[in-house]
Amino acid sequence: MAYPEPQPAPRVLVMKFGGSSVADPDKIKNVARRLVEAHRSGRSVVGVVSAMGETTDQLADLAARVSDRPHPREMDMLLSTGERISAALCAMAIEDLGHHAVSLTGSQAGIVTDTVHTKAKIVDIRPKRIEQALEENKIVLVAGFQGVSTALDVTTLGRGGSDTTAVALAAALGGDCEIYTDVEGVYTADPRIVPGARKLPVVSPLEMLEMAGSGARVLQLRSVEFARNHGVSIHVRSTFTDTTGTWIREDATMEDPIISGITHTVDEAYVTLENVPDKPGAAAGIFTAVAAAHINVDTIIQNAVTHERADITFSLPADDLPLMTNTIDGLCRELDLEFRVDDTAGKVSLIGAGMKSHPGVAARMFATLAEHGINVRMIATSPIKVSCVIAREKVPEAVAALHDVFEAELAEAQGEEPRV
Ligand code: ADP
Ligand code: ASP
Ligand code: MG
Repeated sequence: MAYPEPQPAPRVLVMKFGGSSVADPDKIKNVARRLVEAHRSGRSVVGVVSAMGETTDQLADLAARVSDRPHPREMDMLLSTGERISAALCAMAIEDLGHHAVSLTGSQAGIVTDTVHTKAKIVDIRPKRIEQALEENKIVLVAGFQGVSTALDVTTLGRGGSDTTAVALAAALGGDCEIYTDVEGVYTADPRIVPGARKLPVVSPLEMLEMAGSGARVLQLRSVEFARNHGVSIHVRSTFTDTTGTWIREDATMEDPIISGITHTVDEAYVTLENVPDKPGAAAGIFTAVAAAHINVDTIIQNAVTHERADITFSLPADDLPLMTNTIDGLCRELDLEFRVDDTAGKVSLIGAGMKSHPGVAARMFATLAEHGINVRMIATSPIKVSCVIAREKVPEAVAALHDVFEAELAEAQGEEPRV
């Protein structure tokens, strides 16, 4: 008698749903239906969910009303509850559809992090419980944005961190990763600011890294880094339609687009240290202290040295400003330096892997801003990005103007004929 061949286990599909996708009971039921559909199509399904709607902001406001300086450990205990609510509700809705589901906290899911509260990094994934539940044919719901530290405390992964939960689980389970959100994919600019922005079919991991790092909120920067390091392809798509979204992966058939996207941020502050002595070790001392406080600085610019002194300006997340002020206050007193904080600026960036072989992009960018009377306060470049720091209130106008001027290049990024 011939026995049937053992079937390979179905490939795991990790589906992540953001806050607006689970904002109310009906939306949670919709997410439950989507997870069940994927399960019916024969996949092993892991759902990663964010907190409902604005829950995380509301919890953070609540903390601010109770304490001037909420302890980061307690902040994580508080913020992690939002995602647990969504995971449990979603599991209930799935059971009502006649399928088995189980919700897990980050800790139960085996997401182990370092001990840096409110922006912890994943150091290990031990997905035993997920694998067991999948073997029992259950749909597994994992509360996004959280883990357990090596010191056994609850941690969170920074704002937008559920994306990283999803990518990390896809890497650990050898599965595919779909990020479901309130837009249909990654666009040439934030579609809420530029109504004419267009969906990109494919974005290379390197370009996505630059886009996420310069403000394209649609994917958390860490998730893109994780995907790049572990070879995970990401499909960013809409929770509310079935349309194909944007693939984040290498695509050898495409030529590098000169410009694939225009990003912006209004969530950064800029700090300038004045009269820093021009001697070896000055910058190292400053940025070692900043790094020890776990503050991620982005753009750093030092101006030309005059009279053996220089000014150093750098950007940081505006949320980290109180922490930064504490950190450099003592340092500045020690070194007899002054510092200034600018919380009125924003940044616009052009990103495109092809710009490194096409001169003139930066010049056209500056000319466009000048035509709109927008003053450039700082400029920073990488081989595939040009960023300009400008007045915060001018950011929407600048993004729209640049989208118009680079229309032909952006159309090429989608494989379309440029408009004449
Ligand atoms: P979620 O709650 O699903 O994680 P987010 O609000 O974090 O959603 O990210 C989706 C949002 O990212 C969109 O609503 C859009 O306004 C914004 N966004 C900014 N830049 C881009 C871009 N280039 N492409 C797509 N969305 C963008
Ligand atoms: N709920 C968290 C936030 O709002 C994490 C996430 O949605 O990814 O940042
Ligand atoms: Mg998000």
